[in-house]
Amino acid sequence: MVAQLLTYNGQVAIVTGAGGGLGRAYALMFGSRGAKVVVNDLGGDTKGQGQSSRAADKVVEEIRQAGGIAVANYDSVEDGDKIVQTALDNFGRVDILVNNAGILRDKSFPRTSDTDWDLVQRVHLRGSFMVTRAAFPVMKKQKFGRIIMTASTSGIFGNFGQANYSAAKLGLLGLSNTVSIEGQKYNIHCNTIAPVSGTRMTEGILPPDLFDEFKPEFVAPLVLWLCHEDCEDTGGLFLTAGGWYGKFRWECTNGVMCRKSREEMVTPEVVRDHWDMITDFSHSYNPESGQEATAHLVGALQEMDSAG
Ligand code: NAD
Repeated sequence: MVAQLLTYNGQVAIVTGAGGGLGRAYALMFGSRGAKVVVNDLGGDTKGQGQSSRAADKVVEEIRQAGGIAVANYDSVEDGDKIVQTALDNFGRVDILVNNAGILRDKSFPRTSDTDWDLVQRVHLRGSFMVTRAAFPVMKKQKFGRIIMTASTSGIFGNFGQANYSAAKLGLLGLSNTVSIEGQKYNIHCNTIAPVSGTRMTEGILPPDLFDEFKPEFVAPLVLWLCHEDCEDTGGLFLTAGGWYGKFRWECTNGVMCRKSREEMVTPEVVRDHWDMITDFSHSYNPESGQEATAHLVGALQEMDSAG
């Protein structure tokens, strides 16, 4: 059997921050598989300083040279409506949005200035919100959309010197979780990726052998699959590097009902005395929705009632 090639003919993909690194790899792969691509990039440095049209223009040229279709957009993701308008003006629709643009302003937590905090939130979290909010109604009308948010292991686990970045990156997972719920009935899917890759952002941070091995081109296939019409996943969080792909999920211990009746209150000492059981992951479950997590809590109340 010949595996059917995944194509995006007739579809329009916006990739933010596509002038280099990961975004460039996504844009090139979308372009090579039939999508019309809006290559957005503000063209500043890693800290978000400066601005240039060169980065986006270069990638548009690469896509065209390879026989694809692309236009450049140089707006900041904070002006999300302008980026979406570029797609509508040139191609008349938006099927795919990859929120990828990003900057770093690393400082140890107490040294993080207001500017370090605000700029990082503005580009990552507010930027992804602005572009997604502009694209969502277009996708809703089409009854089709695929959206990617870009998180990071720094958000999932924390990382020294990245309080601002960690907060924004895990904020994006929360945003994605709700967009995926609200998008479901319109066939709008939203997933989050946490990539690791050798780009200018990780130069000098990743050990040289991993920097070379974790090419952005290995992250692109995951993004393309999640954005394909055949992919049914939504609300997921995926980790990837160097050709390895995996999915995260939540795990909660079974927990302990520390009351014996509805009349009983709980003291801190009771929590302390049950701590081993409260934190015991040998008995756990994996809630896949807020409803499932709440049902577990309600179940614990009901068990207490019937035992009492
Ligand atoms: P990169 O610096 O090569 O790419 C980021 C791009 O975003 C740059 O081209 C930059 O000009 C653009 N950009 C910055 N601010 C912008 C704005 N306001 N509007 C539009 N464009 C803007 O770095 P990268 O590693 O390719 O990062 C891509 C994304 O992946 C980022 O969101 C980053 O946080 C995330 N990420 C990367 C890694 C990694 O290992 N490289 C790990 C986790 C998450």
